[in-house]
This record gives sequence, structure tokens and C-alpha cells, in this order.
Amino acid sequence: MNLKIDPRGIPSEGLHVEGQLPVTIFALSEDDPARPVSPLQYQLTVLRDENDIIVHGHLAATFELTCGRCADRFQTRVELQTYGLDVEIENEDPIDLTIYLREDILLALPTYPRCETGNVTPRECPAEGKFSPETEPLGTELDEAADRNVWGTLDQLNNTKRN
Ligand SMILES: [Zn+2]
Repeated sequence: MNLKIDPRGIPSEGLHVEGQLPVTIFALSEDDPARPVSPLQYQLTVLRDENDIIVHGHLAATFELTCGRCADRFQTRVELQTYGLDVEIENEDPIDLTIYLREDILLALPTYPRCETGNVTPRECPAEGKFSPETEPLGTELDEAADRNVWGTLDQLNNTKRN
């Protein structure tokens, strides 16, 4: 199942499409930590501008992710409220929007998933603050401090060279 748009079939006032695409369109591998748990829902308006189709609207899908801190599984719903997409029309053949919607939803997933940012079942991360700084740098402050140390060391090296 997919979402094909026929460029020749787009009326000048635009085409409204809404519905859902099944989880199988994500085609993520078994060992991917992200697992889609809802269809990809879309409500889109499609316009044609010469050689492009211009799509805007709303996308949403729910995923199960692994918290990077406590390693628990948790769910989060990705909502793209003001989604926009331009696709060049290469010939007049129908254009399958599915791959674009899939990519853009996946790109919106958090890079460093944390269960407390999940918006389906709000919770506190049980591992928050449990690691000592030696085993696991906590939060951004310490990461930044580490970065500063690296730069400080580089500065010292540069100074040494100059001297
Ligand atoms: Zn957690």
C-alpha cells in the first residue's frame, strides 16, 4: 500500500488526501531499536507548481524506542504539524509520496531517545542521576565540560608549540 499522486490529476485548487499507511512501509530491520507501533497518518494538500508538486499538511506516527539511559522501551508519537515537501515532476507518471513521508518521519525521531521525553506515557527516567560521573557522563553540562577540557588541552598544545 502506498500514496501515489498523479501529477495530471491535481486540480488547480489542490488535492486533499488523508488516510494512513501501514507500519510495513517503514521496513525497519528487526534489530533496529525504533519500532513503529502505529500506521503513518497523513492529512495533506497537494498542489502543482509547473514542474513540482508541493505537499503540505500533517503527519503522525507512534514509535517504540529504547531509552539511552535506563534501556527501557517507551513510546513516543512523532507529529509533524506543519509538514512540507517539494517533489520534482520528472515525467507525468504518478509519484509515490510514501518514501518521502517515511524518510521525514524517521528523521524526526530523537537521535538520543530518553524515556522522559516520550509523549505517550509520561514518566521520569528511573536511571536519572544513578550513574556516577566516572562510569557515565550525565547530561550536557558534563559533556560540555569535557569538550572544554579538550579545547583547553588543545590550546595548551598550541601555546606550547608557539613558545
Ligand atoms: Zn529512561
